[in-house]
Amino acid sequence: MGAGIQREDLARAEETIRDFTDAELAVSEAQRRLEGSKRLVLERVAELRVLAAAVHDPNLVGVLRHVYWQQRGISAKSLAEAAGLSLQEMLAVIGPCPSGVPCSACGIDLLRTSRSWAPSRYGPPLCKLCETRQREVNSRERHVKELQARFIGGAPVQATAQEWQAAATIVLAYPPLSQGSEPGSEEDRKEGIWLSWENARKVRDQLISAASTENVPFDIPAASARMLIESAFKMAGWDTARTRDLLDPITAETAHALLTRLNRSLQAVVAAAQQRVTQIYPDTYEPNDQEIRSLWNDGPTWWDHLHQRT
Ligand SMILES: [Zn+2]
Repeated sequence: MGAGIQREDLARAEETIRDFTDAELAVSEAQRRLEGSKRLVLERVAELRVLAAAVHDPNLVGVLRHVYWQQRGISAKSLAEAAGLSLQEMLAVIGPCPSGVPCSACGIDLLRTSRSWAPSRYGPPLCKLCETRQREVNSRERHVKELQARFIGGAPVQATAQEWQAAATIVLAYPPLSQGSEPGSEEDRKEGIWLSWENARKVRDQLISAASTENVPFDIPAASARMLIESAFKMAGWDTARTRDLLDPITAETAHALLTRLNRSLQAVVAAAQQRVTQIYPDTYEPNDQEIRSLWNDGPTWWDHLHQRT
């Protein structure tokens, strides 16, 4: 329980309240003064613009540069308007300013191009020159990787027409819809079900159009051979009795033995191609325009090339 409020207690409270009101007044006065002086700065800028012989007048540019970079309280848009410029025009006129952040590649001081500038959104901060160089290197490296992949994928794997036919027959015995897979479904994309079916069909069509007799050697590009062998291996194991029935008219060999042999040939071809590719397309290779254009074509052009040659 208190002893009761005395007159002096009230007086002390009133004093602090008065003090608070004074402070508020001072703030709003300062605010008014701030607005007024801001308006005056902009008016002076507008005057200077009228007096200046050109927008590039170094004195005018100096004032704009100082206000833009050092006086954040004055909005960039109002400043540009006062100078009779768009924001972009003003930024072009006053130019960038040093940021104190070095380029992580060459060490040069990076330039702030606007108040909202940030050193780097992705990865380490780079100057414009290093950024461009980096991008070129990246895309060159990507192109070389694709050329290498194409070279390896196009390397011819040789087996007899009969062996390829056996592998294709197993895959074609299980059409994608029988596996309950719609084209483009998540399962299809993950497993490449339709793609491997199409691939097996293509192999069979090639065998038919080449009218290859059973024991004649026949080349299949490594990328296609890999897909065919992998899918045939998988499907051969689904129903061994059916696989036997499928192979009987073609060969007495088991699917496993046949596919294992094909896979060994494939691995040998790929290993040799990987050796050679580093000489043909070393990592430092500069792809020419025609090679880069050819990479934009989606179709497996290596397939047609290969079979035109053979
Ligand atoms: Zn740099």
